[in-house]
Amino acid sequence: MVHDARRAPRFRLVALIGNPNSGKTTLFNALTGLRQRVGNYPGVTVERKEGRLRMPEGPEATLLDLPGTYSLTPGSPDEQIATDILLGTARHTPPPDIVICVVDASHLERNLFLVSQIIDHRIPTVIALNMVDIAERSGIRIDVRSLARELGVPVIPTVASRSEGIRELIAALSDLRGANAPPNGWRLPAPVERETDELAGILEDVHHIAPAHARHEAMTLLTAESALLDRMDRFSPEVIAHVRRDHAKLDFLGFDRRSVFVESRYAWIKSVCMQSVARNPAAGMSLSDRIDAVVTHRVWGVVIFLALMAIVFQAMFSWAQLPMDMIREGFDWLGARTASAMPPGDLRDLIVHGGIAGVAAVVAFLPQILFLFLFLGLLEDTGYMARAAFIMGRVMSRVGLHGKSFIPLLGSFACAIPGIMATRTIDNPRDRLATMLVAPLMSCSARLPVYALMIAAVIPPLKILGFLSLPGLTMLSMYLLGLVMALLMAWIFKKTLLRGGPPSFIIELPPYTIPSLRSTLMLMWERAWLFLKRAGTIILGASILLWFLASYPKLEGGTPSEKLNHSFVGMAGRFVEPAIRPLGFDWRIGIGLITSLVQREVFVSTMATIYDVGSGESSGAGGLPERLRESKNPATGAGSFTPLTGICIMVYYVLAMQCFSTVAVMRRETNGWKWPLFQVAYMTALAYGVTFIVFRIGTAIAGGGV
Ligand code: GDP
Ligand code: MG
Repeated sequence: MVHDARRAPRFRLVALIGNPNSGKTTLFNALTGLRQRVGNYPGVTVERKEGRLRMPEGPEATLLDLPGTYSLTPGSPDEQIATDILLGTARHTPPPDIVICVVDASHLERNLFLVSQIIDHRIPTVIALNMVDIAERSGIRIDVRSLARELGVPVIPTVASRSEGIRELIAALSDLRGANAPPNGWRLPAPVERETDELAGILEDVHHIAPAHARHEAMTLLTAESALLDRMDRFSPEVIAHVRRDHAKLDFLGFDRRSVFVESRYAWIKSVCMQSVARNPAAGMSLSDRIDAVVTHRVWGVVIFLALMAIVFQAMFSWAQLPMDMIREGFDWLGARTASAMPPGDLRDLIVHGGIAGVAAVVAFLPQILFLFLFLGLLEDTGYMARAAFIMGRVMSRVGLHGKSFIPLLGSFACAIPGIMATRTIDNPRDRLATMLVAPLMSCSARLPVYALMIAAVIPPLKILGFLSLPGLTMLSMYLLGLVMALLMAWIFKKTLLRGGPPSFIIELPPYTIPSLRSTLMLMWERAWLFLKRAGTIILGASILLWFLASYPKLEGGTPSEKLNHSFVGMAGRFVEPAIRPLGFDWRIGIGLITSLVQREVFVSTMATIYDVGSGESSGAGGLPERLRESKNPATGAGSFTPLTGICIMVYYVLAMQCFSTVAVMRRETNGWKWPLFQVAYMTALAYGVTFIVFRIGTAIAGGGV
């Protein structure tokens, strides 16, 4: 039978693949028009889009819009699906007969990473060099013919959003016959090449893996221990032993297996770009690029980042002062009015000292929380947050975390609960767990009241160098302590419990934009509401309960201090005092630690209650910070809240878990009690240990006189 090549259905399934935001969906729409169907891939919430692609000759083909991916070394479920389909390992979808790889011409280097992996697999490919309009506008000129020659595949320039190049693309598809020519491939360093080749050969022979895939598999196995561990059950013990020997050999030769493959690939990509890309640097730099040249600079980027953060914390302190004072005065007035309107007795005490005082102590910190989220909202809206993620990504990868971990950790500055929930975007389970374990070390807004109270009580409002305030710097130090400890613990976890390969690290940098006041205000409102809801419910309840525990059993006729001593709360505080004395804490602080196990900010209302109910030593005038400052330990006559005590309390709160809600969320997210309990244990130990050291050093420096 004569086979007519021109008539035969050469391919049925065409897949669009490319980096996220390269224009795949836009191109898909341009290619299929309205002939498309949207569904889900089985078992996951990843969208599946397919449509009909009319070819100039022969029958229609099916066009599949694959999820965006940066590489064929998948991190996320999306990338896994794209990779599985492309490599023909997906059960639900046959391998495509041909792929259109959509490349964002304005980010050619980054996009070529995926291209080079696809070429390695010898999958029949046509490149849609998309967004050439943007590239041209920013001064990037790509020599399409040279690029096609270097890559060994057809390259068709397109502007998908204006349907330009679509006809040429379809023509290139129908012209394509069989696999693409072997490209001017990239080279590994000779010894690495040798081992890779040998291992690929073994994989072909022993496990019958196709040559093109075998090489990819060999590189993956050689890259990281975790890849080997993930594949233990797929390969024979001999092959695994061989891989281990290769690891040892390459390590001995001094190759960093984690980076050598990626770096060699990028070296090749760079040389391809040198051949094919001309830049017009003057016209080329958009405003965003010019800003980014500074803002994402290795040194200046970090300096700018730290400076911005310093400004945020400074401003939170000075600007928030006035509204905080007003709120405090408002509640004082309310308390006084209530007291004078009601007959004296337990109910009045309960409402004034338990209810109003407790809520006031927390609500007074609302201005600072609003300011924090004003800044976070503005940073997010301007596009700076992505730069911050990029800058921190370098640090993150140094401690073995993904750049994506930065956002959940940053979110944890507000509250660990949304932070932990945001780790769902991290796909490697070990990276995700490491991020969740350290997220509560970031100073959340619930710590703010504690820091603010302690700073107001014991840190004098001195200026350093004339413009930095000591309270502001103290606050910043607490945030930094949490951050540094989080990174340190992540590093330790990734080295021990959660060993695994290095995370890939690519972050989109959106162009800078003028922030929208509306969305920032909405964010502030949302956070304020969340905070108030907690203040209004749990903390009010805790405050009332605490008032009760601090007032009963009643001691008739004693001094207020004796009465407190006699109460349930006093008993509990004295019970834990021996354990916390090495940290410089007395039993009243112990009471605060106990009551704030549920929520950290309860410490503040506890102190308010304790020092309202129990302290006859203070003159009665002034706010809570003044009372703490003036309070004396009845036994020794020394001040209960020295600057060192205040700092130790803050350090303890930076590191201790003290949050039931976080434990509950961890249990839900990890599906068990193991990790949340581990987290509580390690954080408590860390808090105790570090606070102990700080107290020792502080005592030694001050000779006991602080
Ligand atoms: P996907 O994530 O790869 O599916 O990317 P989309 O198709 O969603 O495109 C991302 C954005 O780029 C959309 O706003 C498109 O309108 C835009 N876009 C796509 N192709 C082009 C192009 O060739 N030129 C320009 N200027 N914009 C494009
Ligand atoms: Mg899309």
